[in-house]
Amino acid sequence: MSVMYKSTRNSSEKMTASEAILKGLSDDGGLYVPESIPALDVDLDKLAKMDYRQVAYEVMSRMLSDFTEEELKHCIDSAYDDKFDTSVIAPLVNKAGANYLELFHGSTIAFKDMALSILPYLLVTSAKKNKVTNEIVILTATSGDTGKAALAGFADVPGTKIIVFYPKNGVSPIQEKQMVTQKGDNTYVVGIVGNFDDAQTGVKNMFNDKNLLKDMNDKGYQFSSANSINIGRLVPQMVYYVYAYTRLVADGKIKAGDKINVVVPTGNFGNILAAYYAKEMGLPIAKFICASNENKVLYDFFETGIYDKNREFILTSSPSMDILISSNLERLIYRIADDDSEKNKELMNALSSSGKYEISADMKAKLSEFYGNYATEEETAETIKRVYESDGYIMDTHTAVASTVYEKYKADTNDETPTVIASTASPYKFTRSVMEAIDKSYASQSDFELVDELNKLSKVKIPQAIEDIRSAAVLHDTVCNKSEMEATVRKILGL
Ligand SMILES: *Cc1c(COP(=O)(O)O)cnc(C)c1O
Repeated sequence: MSVMYKSTRNSSEKMTASEAILKGLSDDGGLYVPESIPALDVDLDKLAKMDYRQVAYEVMSRMLSDFTEEELKHCIDSAYDDKFDTSVIAPLVNKAGANYLELFHGSTIAFKDMALSILPYLLVTSAKKNKVTNEIVILTATSGDTGKAALAGFADVPGTKIIVFYPKNGVSPIQEKQMVTQKGDNTYVVGIVGNFDDAQTGVKNMFNDKNLLKDMNDKGYQFSSANSINIGRLVPQMVYYVYAYTRLVADGKIKAGDKINVVVPTGNFGNILAAYYAKEMGLPIAKFICASNENKVLYDFFETGIYDKNREFILTSSPSMDILISSNLERLIYRIADDDSEKNKELMNALSSSGKYEISADMKAKLSEFYGNYATEEETAETIKRVYESDGYIMDTHTAVASTVYEKYKADTNDETPTVIASTASPYKFTRSVMEAIDKSYASQSDFELVDELNKLSKVKIPQAIEDIRSAAVLHDTVCNKSEMEATVRKILGL
């Protein structure tokens, strides 16, 4: 079956998966969504015997139906190789009564690698398929992890340039160091004076700026996006939910067809939306437990049906979730509006004009599979300490938000359904917050001393990504105001 994609804000225009991947964001400001989600018509028991790459092929070939088998297998094999420090790619670890799906074994030690190690291959293949001759400029806003993962994925990929904007004071020291030491002649990293939402809005505006797009085209450039608004990121993220489920089957913890819950530490809503799409494909998921930090706009939305970003932006110890405009929620809104692009557009226009919208009672009724809650900074730190002391397992701050919310969910519902918690970053990426959660007296030590202490406590090998930045030189030091983002891009591209 061939799957076509259309915008959440205009249902008349249809395109193939490769065209949607190339464009990233629709001209009308909408996001590309599959017209219908194909069934995963392979036995779950059969998938349980496959390895990560084979599962990836089964899932992705159905969603990206215009890629040939050869093209897709080339992308998958190039992405999920020894860049990952374990051959299983995404280990499922049972600790403290839950299954942690460790999505941080790629080259930048956060879950963004799961999609961003394959996106460059999907994009270059898409360009070839569509006879694009322009150079592709990847323009990306990051709350910390996307930026590095995208830089690592695209560095020195022929026919591409990558420009990353990050909030200068809104990422962890290790996240920043990882980005500003990035090698590759086609990589550009810019700090902005502002927060992630400013960066994301600036990027979205450039995507829709007709003058800029024309000037770029004249010079032989066109934009694409590595942000989770690109469907080429969402589809690879569906894979690991199918993979996790089938590992539980393989381990005899569930039988094929039994339901599981998933808990996802959520920011831009991409990761949890991939789980939702996996369910629409046929994966038996009962509840989507959406975990927020103190920027709890999503929790409030699931409680009240009102999305309201007019509130204080809080910098937390889980910076990759410090987001008030959850872009991918638009894809869910579109689904619960029965794929009505006009209705969706109305709500999104309200969001951009007043920062707020309210869904109808009918739409809200369709959110019954979602449970939202949030963790305070204190609760997050307590969870890290408690699980370390009980099980010797040290999780990062984002995963700890999810773990805390899972405990709240169990207390609220007494639901004992087997559950997978998406573990989205290595504790080594947020070493300072993690170590201070375990013992406040670590506060006096330097970042790299803390790395060594974490190694002693966790007995987990220090990832190569951390070793690499201990002594690496800073190669990027551009900083600009949020109003200067376009000028910065023009300067980089020589427009
Ligand atoms: C990006 C990120 C998240 C949030 O994922 P979304 O898909 O944006 O909801 C959570 N944790 C970590 C470590 C991340 O890098």
